[in-house]
Amino acid sequence: MENWDVVVAGGGPSGISTALHLVQRNPAWAGRVLVIEKARYPRPKLCGGGITDYGFQAIKALGLDLAEIPHTKADEVRLTYRGQRLSFWKRPVLHVVRRDVFDAWLAQKAMERGVTVHQGEAVADVQPHDGGVSVRTSEGAYEARTLVVADGSKGVIRRKLDMEDTGHVARLIEIITPAEDENSRALHREAVAVFDFTPRLDGLQGYYWDFPCVVDGRPSINRGVYDARAVPELPKADLKGVLRESLAERGLDIDQVELMGHPIHWFDPQAALARPHVLLVGDAAGADPLLGEGIAFALGYGEVAAAEIDDAFARNDFAYAGYHPRLMAGSWGSGLKLRVDLARLLYRYNNAFAHWLIMTTLRATMQIVPGMRMYRRPVGA
Ligand SMILES: Cc1cc2nc3c(=O)[nH]c(=O)nc-3n(C[C@H](O)[C@H](O)[C@H](O)COP(=O)(O)OP(=O)(O)OC[C@H]3O[C@@H](n4cnc5c(N)ncnc54)[C@H](O)[C@@H]3O)c2cc1C
Repeated sequence: MENWDVVVAGGGPSGISTALHLVQRNPAWAGRVLVIEKARYPRPKLCGGGITDYGFQAIKALGLDLAEIPHTKADEVRLTYRGQRLSFWKRPVLHVVRRDVFDAWLAQKAMERGVTVHQGEAVADVQPHDGGVSVRTSEGAYEARTLVVADGSKGVIRRKLDMEDTGHVARLIEIITPAEDENSRALHREAVAVFDFTPRLDGLQGYYWDFPCVVDGRPSINRGVYDARAVPELPKADLKGVLRESLAERGLDIDQVELMGHPIHWFDPQAALARPHVLLVGDAAGADPLLGEGIAFALGYGEVAAAEIDDAFARNDFAYAGYHPRLMAGSWGSGLKLRVDLARLLYRYNNAFAHWLIMTTLRATMQIVPGMRMYRRPVGA
């Protein structure tokens, strides 16, 4: 049985960010944090890989340089809806990474800074007790003063801790196609990422996306459909049917591509995010339901959790009652709450007023990002 001050269950961006923020706050954390990751890096992760400015700034604030790994930049994010186009410009608006590469890089940085990472080891059971949490894995057993649950949207650890929430789950299908046709080549040439909300008309509580990316050195397009299910009482959209139609509009045949599905567990402002000796971060705590953005928030959860853990050890008080209030008092929690409210509004009402409201809010939100420009024009102009 090994004793650790902090055990992190899951080595995605939220778990690694928690570890990186701890050692950044105080180098004395080096050697005291164990990350347990069930896969081995580089491990596949279904994801568009789009990192917004918030995420990029969080990476920079950790003293990391994304230029060290291959990625694509989108200088224009184009929102389309029924022939209307609203574009946001910045150089770049979005960094698009491949998650296998990005997550392996983050984990490598953590190891270089003194974090221990066990790969190919799965957390099987967790038992909280007065002094901490007993953690049993596929390889052994550990005692943790603090357990950080970072096992993602499909993670089961929060359920083992009786921390199951109301179960808000978005549905996604993703595909990757080579950028061989003229439309795809243009997205690469002009560095454009597309969010097409036209499938709202088919009841999709979300959008279809096209993100330019590079897979094994080959220009490709990461595409898919996102269905937040933010308003569960409305009928479910036919996700595959929506994807089929959106691909057909782009000259692609759904039967010729490999479909990959994965849920996103999204944030509930009322849900418990902590119990004594335990904190939830990233998708285990909940991502953004409006756009399904999770990478930036995963990094943000790590920052807040690390501050909370650092304080807990300083005070020798592991109740973690201050984690939820601390998250909500800062920009990460308030940003998530705003997106929950907007998703519930936008995806409930499928009418002109709701769309005007969301466009106005998006414009206002984007305008606070330094250097962002915005304009509107009809598709094809
Ligand atoms: C199709 C799709 C497209 C997306 N596109 C985007 C996008 O473009 N931009 C964006 O910002 N977000 C996107 N997201 C959301 C984003 O992928 C997640 O929000 C993000 O990965 C959350 O990070 P995390 O560290 O919390 O979880 P994860 O990245 O899921 O990491 C969890 C880790 O825990 C490990 N694990 C699980 N169980 C155990 C266990 N028992 N023991 C040990 N380890 C365990 C897993 O192997 C994994 O490495 C997308 C999601 C999907 C499904």
